[in-house]
Amino acid sequence: MRQVAVIGSGPAGYYTAEACQKQFGEAVRVDIVDRLPVPYGLIRTGVAPDHQSIKAVSRRYEATALSDNVRFVGNVAVGRDVSIPELLDLYDAVVLATGAPSDRPLGVPGDDLDGVIGSAAFVGWYNGHPDFAGLAPALHGPGAVVVGAGNVALDVARILANTADEFAGSDIVGHALDALGGHGVERITILARRGPHQIAMTPKELGELGHLHRAAPHVDAADLPPEGEDAALDPGLRKSVAHLRQFVGTPDKPISIDFDFFAQPVRIEGEGGRVARVVVERTRLDAEGRAVGTGETYSIPAGLVVSCIGYQTPRIEGVPYDAKLGRFANEEGRIAPGLYAVGWARRGPTGTIGTNRPDGFLIADHLAADLPEDSGKPGRAGLDALLAERGVDVVTFRDWQEIEKAEVANAREGAPREKFTAVEAMLAARGG
Ligand code: NAP
Repeated sequence: MRQVAVIGSGPAGYYTAEACQKQFGEAVRVDIVDRLPVPYGLIRTGVAPDHQSIKAVSRRYEATALSDNVRFVGNVAVGRDVSIPELLDLYDAVVLATGAPSDRPLGVPGDDLDGVIGSAAFVGWYNGHPDFAGLAPALHGPGAVVVGAGNVALDVARILANTADEFAGSDIVGHALDALGGHGVERITILARRGPHQIAMTPKELGELGHLHRAAPHVDAADLPPEGEDAALDPGLRKSVAHLRQFVGTPDKPISIDFDFFAQPVRIEGEGGRVARVVVERTRLDAEGRAVGTGETYSIPAGLVVSCIGYQTPRIEGVPYDAKLGRFANEEGRIAPGLYAVGWARRGPTGTIGTNRPDGFLIADHLAADLPEDSGKPGRAGLDALLAERGVDVVTFRDWQEIEKAEVANAREGAPREKFTAVEAMLAARGG
């Protein structure tokens, strides 16, 4: 029997468990450990609440979770309740599937002012992550600046622009729905430090901006390269750029979503400790395609700045870390004997949810090559004994199903659920 601990119950964690089942059949036991009492990581607290079809993938993880040789061990934090060396003693393999839940710092003067937040915090707030439920973002408007030209920037702009009707059928949490319903944001500026041909936005997500009830996207025709140059782009990017071309001269709506290309924040200025404006520098591309400042600056008034410039994996004491790339130092997923990384913790915050599936299979292949068939390690029985000795209140998958039932019962009309946003409330909801 091979004993495997996977740390993190998001897509990378569940795909790894699924791959271990396929690789070893009955000859493996997988414990999926999560610091929260609820599973699915980014699916629950990262994917936008109005993208329910993407969230549906959790049903596939549920099938894995309900099989006999996979177990969810919730409300157990590595570093607080159990350490990596202890897990390595108990299990044949420890796979870090901890994702990249921390914001990369913007790193400009003024980025610590009130009203300047990272996307992890903002996305966590509207998705009910316990760490960010109390965020209270500054939504008084009239300006909001979203930094970055990726899909997270699109999510943030769209969530700021959506009406209550557009949230129908979503699982946005009540506190965010209420706050967004009454906000005063009239102008959302998406700051892209490079040009339309360098965006990281995918076509479906970008196209959605063109169909919002009360918001219209605007692109300045002068920022677009000649149309003939689009032919050289990858098909996906070409489709995205086609959307940008359609955003030139769109009729106004109450909220304007302005794409500001070749523009990077150089300073954030405040009044009374709160953000008031973003000082932006025009950029141009150098020979390597990087953004370089031109020295020309201007200001954009803003009561809220959300930086959507990518994420990083938090460090775990004793685990080698690549600070430049913001993830665990690893060779194709191998960190050290018995210790592996998968998903964003392995390769950084790129790709879609499905990209984590081959990652999981890669790790299962490594385990097949590296692990003995039966080392005699105690695995889950040993973890249970250790956690019981420490008085840790472990949440099982059955407990989660009770929590989920309560969330479904609490849902407002038409919504799939009303998420609990406090760990205590999640724990209290077990047992009906
Ligand atoms: P991303 O795709 O890497 O985009 C980050 C953006 O931030 C890039 O435009 C980058 O510009 C810019 N940036 C980086 N550092 C900057 C700085 N210092 N100043 C100004 N701009 C800066 O990251 P993401 O949007 O966080 O998304 C992460 C992953 O999740 C992506 O793979 C994304 O597709 C995926 N995702 C998918 C969906 C969906 O499918 N619906 C939704 C959300 C996220 P440069 O290119 O110039 O570096």
